[in-house]
Amino acid sequence: MQVFKFGGASVKDAGAVRNVGEIVKRFQDEKLLIVISAMGKSTNALEQLTEACYKQTGNAKKIFDEIKSYHDQIIKELIKDIHPHGFDDIENTFIELECLISGIPEGEYAFLYDQIVSFGELLSTKIVSIYLNQTGIRNRWLDARNFIHTDSTYREGKVDWTKTTQIIQSKLKPLVEKQIIITQGFIGNSPNNNTTTLGREGSDYSAAIFAYALDAESQTIWKDVAGVLNADPKRFKDTIKIDELTYNEAIELAYYGATVIHPKTIQPLQSKSIPLYVKSFVDPSASGTTVSNAPHDLIQMPVYIVKGDQTLVSISSKDFSFIVEENLSKIFEVFASHGIKTNMMQNSAISFSACVNTEDDNLKALQEALANQFNVRINKGCELFTARNVRSVQQVEYVKDKTILLEQRTRSSIQLVIQS
Ligand code: ASP
Ligand code: MG
Repeated sequence: MQVFKFGGASVKDAGAVRNVGEIVKRFQDEKLLIVISAMGKSTNALEQLTEACYKQTGNAKKIFDEIKSYHDQIIKELIKDIHPHGFDDIENTFIELECLISGIPEGEYAFLYDQIVSFGELLSTKIVSIYLNQTGIRNRWLDARNFIHTDSTYREGKVDWTKTTQIIQSKLKPLVEKQIIITQGFIGNSPNNNTTTLGREGSDYSAAIFAYALDAESQTIWKDVAGVLNADPKRFKDTIKIDELTYNEAIELAYYGATVIHPKTIQPLQSKSIPLYVKSFVDPSASGTTVSNAPHDLIQMPVYIVKGDQTLVSISSKDFSFIVEENLSKIFEVFASHGIKTNMMQNSAISFSACVNTEDDNLKALQEALANQFNVRINKGCELFTARNVRSVQQVEYVKDKTILLEQRTRSSIQLVIQS
């Protein structure tokens, strides 16, 4: 039993979906569960739709129409002689979404977000499933919300592992034995039966949850790159593919911001020694990257990771007290209560600096909460640059013309907060 995950880029248009069909055809006789993301950038569009709907900007209908016509175009190109039930199903899904956005929104933003944004995955899987069946690749569409159970933390559902594993084992496993299953990434079900999502780019994680609970032989993530590279090819020249990684190395790379694998994906696989293959959907027979426990020489090549959209927060005390335990614990408490995650931090006697994701509303609130006791400086427009397996970063082209605001070294990495 294998688990495949196809991301947004692999289903971004009709040609891409046909290519998915070609890949799946090679594995037609295997026991396969396929997890699919929303098509192309449609999650971003659905985020805009949520915003428009929540703030009642009057734009919602226009954004909805754009999302619909994007999908309609793909359907038109792919699905010819369709069983009428297939079309009805997709049409109904759009009607459901339209109803949802037409009313006055109830509840919190995060709740509404999950109810709307989840439509991206529902639509993409329905389209792909119908297309594959039409081309002779027999498969069954299933709603992931029947299997992935979370708490009610909207936009970042925490998985109920006991319930999820038990249901997947008892209800889903026998179905995967029988035929190819197509289901959604990213979405789950709350205890009171509302849709939740697992956090942006969460489909890799969904696939890992399924792989874990099914005791799969392997998980494969099909990407538009050759595998895990030593740097992001959009930012660096001459990147090199990493053939093998241990789970721990992969966790670290993902944690520092290598977007090729979602950070939560690895641990469920690691705990059952399920290998993860990252492969190219453009060149499916190429070897890609294998993440496993297999003993190998630790990677020696330099690895560069850039995490964008960062803000440097610098905090010093107003009363000239040192930034030691007592002050630090206050600062961390405020960070935690505002849901601000630090990606790197450093402290000296008189100041504390943290590099965090830029989230304007939360940062403003953080600044206000600390303002009584501390001077807080906010420096937006930063990037967190991490280099591994290098002695120095002086020669690295990418950082040469940038201002370095903060630098930190450990035995295995050099991290810089930089600004252009
Ligand atoms: N469609 C979701 C997103 O774009 C989940 C995923 O692609 O993994 O964030
Ligand atoms: Mg996506």
